[in-house]
Amino acid sequence: MNKKIGLLLCWVIFFMGGVLCGQTEQKPFKVVIDAGHGGHDSGCLGARSKEKDVCLSTALKLGKLITDNCPNVKVIYTRKTDVFVELYRRAQIANTNKADLFISIHCNAAENHSAGGTETWVMGLHKSEANLAVARTENAAMLKEKNYENNYEGYNPNSPEASIIFSLYSNAYLSNSILLANKVQRNMVSTNHFVDRGIKQAGFWVLYKVAMPSILIELGFLSNLENERYLIQDANQNQMATAIYKGFVEYYNTVTNHHLESTPATPLVSTEPAETPSTVTENEKEKEEKPVITPTITEKKFHNDVHFKVQFLSSPKKIALTDSKFRNIPEVNCYFENSLWKYTAGDEPTQAEASAILKEVKKLYPDAFLIAFHGDKKITVAEANALLKK
Ligand SMILES: [Zn+2]
Repeated sequence: MNKKIGLLLCWVIFFMGGVLCGQTEQKPFKVVIDAGHGGHDSGCLGARSKEKDVCLSTALKLGKLITDNCPNVKVIYTRKTDVFVELYRRAQIANTNKADLFISIHCNAAENHSAGGTETWVMGLHKSEANLAVARTENAAMLKEKNYENNYEGYNPNSPEASIIFSLYSNAYLSNSILLANKVQRNMVSTNHFVDRGIKQAGFWVLYKVAMPSILIELGFLSNLENERYLIQDANQNQMATAIYKGFVEYYNTVTNHHLESTPATPLVSTEPAETPSTVTENEKEKEEKPVITPTITEKKFHNDVHFKVQFLSSPKKIALTDSKFRNIPEVNCYFENSLWKYTAGDEPTQAEASAILKEVKKLYPDAFLIAFHGDKKITVAEANALLKK
């Protein structure tokens, strides 16, 4: 081919490519991720945690998943750090950015500590006093603002008539909000196995003010010890963020005609627990040192095949028992339960002996706790102690 014609052809292909690319370029889909509370507003409190922290961590994880896996979606956060952001400002951020979707992440609390579960809210008029109470608690965040009266049209979340303001609300985005709520709620409860408290409606200020489909997720109850134990773990927050992500992608595919995979190609990687930095050389050193570790010589007698152990870590991925993170843990073992690998220390015939190990393990893993087995079957510590008396 003549050089000149070749060059010309290259140029035409380059130019056409540019034109075609330009034609297929789409306006990004914008999603606002709103981590509830922050700064001097802690939100509700668990025994060991604050709502603002669980919300922020899960929100950032959700945002990372979307950013890493959805090329045409832009993530906007109302906060990325532990700062106070006024409720009205959150809605303003979403509206001025002309977002397509608003996802607010919160945690619940109740006086009844056995109450637990996940629920997803859309804006609307409450159908029960219980629903009103949840919205009122979340709206009370505005009371932490200096001149809150100026920003909320005279609305006072503590006044019994307060919800009247919401009765004038007509929601152009309700059906899409419910569509998203259903997808998120379904993915959430099939992931965390919490009680499914369903999709609900009430007057949440932050949802009231956003001009786009919106949901508010109450991940679980920090006042419920079991819920809290799950909610505060990094690996579990990854799972919940992934569940919300899946719901989001299903919604996104429905409303935009895209066909993204709901399972993220780039998943979140758990950083839990604070891993001891390990290098290849350290690992190698460890392998060399390994035969030096003396096995327990004293033979333990297990009455009625009852075993007490200390559970200190759970992970969706299997970790080798020889991993460097276990180097200072005695008798590491694992079992599989509820889609998680759970790691244990010690294997003791009595609760007292396991408690001594628990005390040591807690120095490295403060969330560690006692568990018990009857043979291979997991039982409660109380059941184990009852079996020992037989
Ligand atoms: Zn909240």
